Amino acid sequence: DFSHGIALYLEKVSVWFDAFRALNDLSLYIQEGELRCIIGPNGAGKTTLMDVITGKTRPTEGSAFFGQNYDLAKMSTEQIAEAGIGRKFQKPTVFENFTVMENLLLAAPKDKRVKKSFFSKLDPDAQLALDESLAQIRLEEWVHKPAGLLSHGQKQWLEIGMLLMQRPKLILLDEPVAGMTDAETERTAELCLELKKNHTLVVVEHDMSFIDTISEKVTVLAQGAILAEGTLAEVQANEDDVKEPTMLEVKDVN
Ligand code: ADP
Repeated sequence: DFSHGIALYLEKVSVWFDAFRALNDLSLYIQEGELRCIIGPNGAGKTTLMDVITGKTRPTEGSAFFGQNYDLAKMSTEQIAEAGIGRKFQKPTVFENFTVMENLLLAAPKDKRVKKSFFSKLDPDAQLALDESLAQIRLEEWVHKPAGLLSHGQKQWLEIGMLLMQRPKLILLDEPVAGMTDAETERTAELCLELKKNHTLVVVEHDMSFIDTISEKVTVLAQGAILAEGTLAEVQANEDDVKEPTMLEVKDVN
């Protein structure tokens, strides 16, 4: 049932903050099963775009659809999350004093959030989600250890596991490899490619070699609009500025 239909469709979306236009007539089409990377300099509108997709920010103009059925402008952030859009922010927000398992269970949808007592067993659905989540993030050995003992990279993976507990269809990742070691970055690339088998992913990143490893299609944002779209090689060939996003950032300041 992973049909490669429409996952996300934004049509001519503009977002105004007072007199400042953070997104400028932006149209974006992402297919189910795609892993789309969003790149661009600071201030390009990447965060605003993610905020529009999760309902945190409303388009001032234009429309945004999730799948065939969901008009994001008409839904609350909770309804959007329930419909299957999950977002991981850059900074990990795991509960350090709780175990990996407890963190995962706390992230399960409220109706499935069964407390595990000495005598009671987990709700079978929650148990399945837990097992699947743990297997994907490969933290089985840490399941009963406090999350505070995890490395930065492991905390990021735990947080992806917490997202998976909600069984999202579309996963948004905000700079997933920021601050990671090379080995953690490599493992995160593997994880993203595994998730792509049954999820749609939108990844905001600055790390070009990571993007090169995971992505077949890249969208370049600048000043709230799409500057280029294609494979990383294509957008780099078509747009000299894209070769060094840090240069774009420097230019932006001037
Ligand atoms: P990026 O994530 O690509 O760095 P953002 O989406 O955070 O870009 O920001 C795009 C532009 O919109 C920036 O110039 C930022 O200052 C502005 N902006 C973002 N949020 C607000 C807000 N709530 N009020 C006013 N301006 C904002």
